[in-house]
Parts: sequence; structure tokens; C-alpha cells
Amino acid sequence: MREIAIAGAGIGGLTAAVALRQAGFDVHVYEQAPELTEVGGGINMGPNATRILYGLGLGPALDREAVRPLSTHQRRWQDGRTLQRAPLNPRSEELYGAPHLTVHRADLLSIVASGFPPERVHLGHRLVGLADTGAGVEAWFEGGVRVTADVLIGADGIHSTVRAALLGEEAPRFAGCVAYRGLVPAAHIADLGLELGSQSWVGPGGHLVHYFVSRGRLLNFVGWTEHDTWNREDWTDRATIARALAAFDGWHPQVRRIIGAADTCFVWALFDREPLPRWSLGRVTLLGDACHPMYPFMGQGAAQAIEDGACLAACLVAGAGDPAAALGRYERLRLPRVSRLQEMSRANKVRFHLPDGPAQEARDAEWARAGDRSPEALRWLYDFDAGALGKEKCYPLAAQND
Ligand SMILES: Cc1cc2nc3c(=O)[nH]c(=O)nc-3n(C[C@H](O)[C@H](O)[C@H](O)COP(=O)(O)OP(=O)(O)OC[C@H]3O[C@@H](n4cnc5c(N)ncnc54)[C@H](O)[C@@H]3O)c2cc1C
Repeated sequence: MREIAIAGAGIGGLTAAVALRQAGFDVHVYEQAPELTEVGGGINMGPNATRILYGLGLGPALDREAVRPLSTHQRRWQDGRTLQRAPLNPRSEELYGAPHLTVHRADLLSIVASGFPPERVHLGHRLVGLADTGAGVEAWFEGGVRVTADVLIGADGIHSTVRAALLGEEAPRFAGCVAYRGLVPAAHIADLGLELGSQSWVGPGGHLVHYFVSRGRLLNFVGWTEHDTWNREDWTDRATIARALAAFDGWHPQVRRIIGAADTCFVWALFDREPLPRWSLGRVTLLGDACHPMYPFMGQGAAQAIEDGACLAACLVAGAGDPAAALGRYERLRLPRVSRLQEMSRANKVRFHLPDGPAQEARDAEWARAGDRSPEALRWLYDFDAGALGKEKCYPLAAQND
């Protein structure tokens, strides 16, 4: 078993490609887009993900482009009062041997892509069908190109064609949340004197997170508000900075200053799926948002896609003689952890958006006591080696859920 085809060159698909090729497989990636692109904005990467990227040799590029936030700080929406504050770096590295990073999505994608030969990434290839012949997998693309491989991995995102072919069509559901996202040149808000860290502001029906990316030159913000319905036409309003300011009317002046200083602002609707009972069938499997999209309220969607890639590579190395069994093992190892994170991310939507009142006061008191965003409190999440998990001798399954 040598040949692996991956559909989708997002962060998940490309990380898997790098890991599998380093493990000695003959890997090709098929991407529908005419070029590698990520919608602008930032991404927050815990040490569970950066450990893998550093292990794949991508550390020097990450050190060049990403930011090592010093702290994470939760604040009240209107008066800015501190609810929790915890150190991130260098504590993360001291505890877990890997830093916590914030990075521009486009930078992260090109860093991961730099670890894989570009001639093996086939752009403009939209997968439209597949067949598992038992001895291999055939995949075909818009325009008529057909390829065969020993294993096919669907890393084709929340609207996954591979998932639909394996498990049937099911439209994702609007999750009742819309994000306003923007990037602000750091020079435009220098007067705020922001620490090189991450801040989350929580309030009734919404929250807003901001952190630096691109070596500290840009501040990324994502502000979430709740809505009953999503209507694409209604939301493709070009005046989104004014609209974002209206959505955060009455919030702390710092929040409004940051939104108002953005060069551009765009809107993103959050979609969701029910957790899947399985991801693999025969010689075909899924990873990342294709099988476990999650609300971004644990900052773990891309991180889990990265973990998938590392675990999948290790499982295929350990079980190359029987690819279907290796894919089944990958799925069994990964499902409990990502299901837990899907649930926690959903719970955070409620927790972060509580209306002011007794429940919010109880939450704030608990946060003040528990410090549940600190690197120490998230040991189960951060002190985890998804690549080692796939190797024969590591971690019993129970260790994932302690
Ligand atoms: C606002 C927001 C903030 C977030 N913040 C964080 C964060 O801080 N930290 C974090 O870890 N995660 C975060 N996430 C989640 C994270 O962005 C996703 O989980 C992650 O990008 C998923 O990666 P992926 O590779 O699985 O899928 P995608 O990035 O969706 O990539 C799928 C790729 O497949 C291609 N494709 C699709 N269909 C086909 C086809 N038929 N044939 C060929 N190619 C195809 C697509 O063009 C795309 O390139 C956030 C998400 C949102 C919406």
C-alpha cells in the first residue's frame, strides 16, 4: 500500500499530505480551487497542534510568521472588567514543549504547503465521484480526469463530497451565529497599548475575540452575534464595518475602536452538522471539517484537523498491510476526542452569550475561581500527541478522556 489521494488542500488536507509523505507514502492532493487560498483572518493554535507542525519541520517558518501571545484575557462586554486572565507563552512551552501561536490563515496554509512538493498538488480538480473497488479506490473529477489510489482521504471541508458519497447527502445547518471578521493594522490602534496577547469580550448574545497575527503587524478580530435565520442576500452587505459596529452597539470603547479601525470587514455564517458515528468505509476516510465541523468556540477546528493528519499517518504506517483496518483504527482513536470538543464548543456558545443576570454572575464567579482557559487547566487538550497515539505502543484509548 503506497498511493494515497487526498481531496482538499485546506489546512487539514495539506498537513496530512506532509505527514504521509514524510512517512514514505506516494501522496497526491486534489484541490477544486485554481489556487491555494484561505479566507483572510487569524487562527489560534494550541500546543496540541503546534507540536505536530514543529515535528513536521515547519517550525522555522512558523517562528518567522506567527505570533506567540503572552496571555489570554476574558473581559466583560460593557465595562471591560477582567473575568479571567492566564499566561500563554512561554508557559505553554515550559509545560508542553510547544508554543501557543496566533497566525494569519493564509500564512499558515502557505507554511504547511511549503512542506509538500507543489507538483503533487493538483489545482482546479473538483472531485465529483468515487468508487472503492476493494483492491483500490477510483476518484473522478469535474472535466473527466480519473485517478486511482490505494486509499482516498476526504479533506474537503464542511460541504464534503467524499462524505456525501460515503454516508449520504445531508445539508449542514445554520448554527444561529454570524461572525464579523476583520484585520486592523497594528499602527492604527497603537494608542490602545494592547499587550501582545489574546482578548475575549463576552456579553449578552455575542462575544468578540482579538489577537495579533503576521508578526504582530495586524490585529485579527472575530465578533459573534446570534441570529435566528441566515439569508445570504441579506448578509452580503458591503457596509459591514458599519453593520459590525451596529451589532456591537453599547460594547466597551476598545471593542468599538478596533472594529472601526479595520481596513475591511466581512461576514461569516456558522454552519454545523450532527456528530457522525463513523468516518471510514473500506479504503476511504475523512478528516477535519469534512467529518467533524465544530463551533470555533474552543479554537480547535483546524487544530483537530491537524491532529487527524498526524494520527492518520501513524495508523497507516502501523497498518499498511490492511488499509481498511488502519482507517478503522484511526477513526476509533480520533472519535472520542473530537466528539468531546464538538460538545464543548457547543456548550461555549451558550456560556459565552448568557444574558446579564444570575446565570452570568454564576459563570463569572466560576471563571474567577477555575481559571479554565489557563494552559494548566487545559492539560487534557494540550498535552496530547496525536501522532504518537497512532503508533502501536502509545496511550491506551482511555487516556484521551481524562
Ligand atoms: C470564524 C472562524 C474562526 C475559527 N477559528 C479557529 C481557531 O482559532 N482555531 C482553530 O483551530 N480553528 C478555527 N476555526 C475552524 C477552522 O477554520 C476549520 O476547522 C479548518 O479550517 C478546517 O480545515 P479543513 O482542512 O478540514 O477544511 P477547509 O479549510 O474547509 O478545506 C477544505 C478544502 O477542500 C476543498 N474542496 C472542497 N470540496 C472539494 C472537492 N469536491 N474536490 C476538491 N477539493 C475540494 C476546498 O476548496 C478547501 O480548500 C475557525 C472557523 C471559523 C469559521
